[in-house]
Amino acid sequence: MAKLQVELVTAERRVLSQEADFVLAPGADGDLGVLPRHIPLLTTLKTGEVMVRNEGREEYLFVAGGFLEVLPDKVVILADVAERAEDIDEARAEEARKRAEELLQHEPENVEAAAILEREVLRLRVAEIRRHRRDRPSGPPPSE
Ligand code: ATP
Repeated sequence: MAKLQVELVTAERRVLSQEADFVLAPGADGDLGVLPRHIPLLTTLKTGEVMVRNEGREEYLFVAGGFLEVLPDKVVILADVAERAEDIDEARAEEARKRAEELLQHEPENVEAAAILEREVLRLRVAEIRRHRRDRPSGPPPSE
């Protein structure tokens, strides 16, 4: 079966490089699902979750800003910020979320604090999704 090669990099490091059957990413116009032989496209990335599925195994990542390029056999994500779900420090994200929330209480018009709040909520959601998926039994149900 045809596969996609997925490359997810930031200016600092290569976060993920692997084959995939399907990629889901937060494109500028909404979530974008990519299968092999997708039409080529280039879009900016919103803040949110990237899911990479290969042979039934799903990898979750958090991304914030950047670009997504789709080619028939390749997905390239150049992210401003990216972390694999398992590398997210939830305590740090929770602290950053609280700081932004407190700032917004005093300065409701502070757009930077609002952006940080949104980013940390989405970051925490990616960590949480992964925890739930990990706890779920994987593979086909046991036969009778
Ligand atoms: P904080 O306010 O939590 O210190 P920051 O605003 O300084 O965060 P960023 O500028 O968004 O952090 O990111 C700096 C680097 O730290 C990036 O490489 C990013 O991937 C990483 N990073 C930020 N928050 C987390 C987190 N909660 N878990 C893991 N990595 C993180």
